Amino acid sequence: IAERIKKPKWLRVKLPTGENYKKVRGLVDEHKLHTICESGSCPNMGECWGEGTATFMILGNICTRSCGFCAVKTGKPLAADLLEPTKVADSVRLMGVKHAVITSVDRDDLEDGGSIIWVKTVEAIREKSPGTTMETLIPDFGGKWDNLNRIIAIAPNIVSHNLETVRRLTKQVRIQAKYDRSLEVLMRLKKGGMKTKSGIMLGLGETEDEILETITDLAQVNCDILTMGQYLQPTPKHLPVAEFVTPEKFEEYRQFALEKGFRYVESGPLVRSSYHAEKHLF
Ligand code: SF4
Ligand code: SF4
Repeated sequence: IAERIKKPKWLRVKLPTGENYKKVRGLVDEHKLHTICESGSCPNMGECWGEGTATFMILGNICTRSCGFCAVKTGKPLAADLLEPTKVADSVRLMGVKHAVITSVDRDDLEDGGSIIWVKTVEAIREKSPGTTMETLIPDFGGKWDNLNRIIAIAPNIVSHNLETVRRLTKQVRIQAKYDRSLEVLMRLKKGGMKTKSGIMLGLGETEDEILETITDLAQVNCDILTMGQYLQPTPKHLPVAEFVTPEKFEEYRQFALEKGFRYVESGPLVRSSYHAEKHLF
């Protein structure tokens, strides 16, 4: 059994407080709303909810893929829930979310890859909360570009697709995904006029040069926003943490990415892809 490395002190977080957080917390409990912030035990809940940002997952909670870092269950998903767009839009409205991040499991089982539910969800949120901005964190749709084009047509404020790791580790970390296909997703989104965003996790065993190469690859497809955070192992069955990257190193990577031309970079041990998402609406 591989020895587990002890968590450094910079990964300890304060318990969430603040008036807005408490208000949202009350609504979530009262209406039994479901957010990724909570189901993923995200350490940033106090901050994000306080700022009016929350992340929702659509297309069910069973994924057709089995990424080595991800705690979402893998299996045969249930049929798409046609009422889901309305339910998510109701949660956004009840919680008073100012900036909603929507993500989904991968639905390689569906011909449309779930893109129709994606579109309906964006439409429902726009209808029920016209002032709310949106980031859609989308899958690669298995390279079926007609499905991706549906997202481009509905033009969310930001469209993100995470590369998650460096080229060499992609096979291990995102077993059914492809590094170049993900870059192509981002390139196509940009060509379609979207503001694009991607994220990588550090500490999976990548080298410094590989990180710089990945940042450069993302800059080459004109990605606007980049997030970099520490990988944390959700359960002992998931990929182990190879290294805890220091805050100073994260800062060096942030500077490098800014020099490469990204317009906004979040880089730090606790950064998650939707962390400070509302600040990316430049
Ligand atoms: Fe929710 Fe994302 Fe913020 Fe975590 S970082 S609390 S998942 S919005
Ligand atoms: Fe998790 Fe997304 Fe991978 Fe599915 S595709 S296992 S939800 S990271």
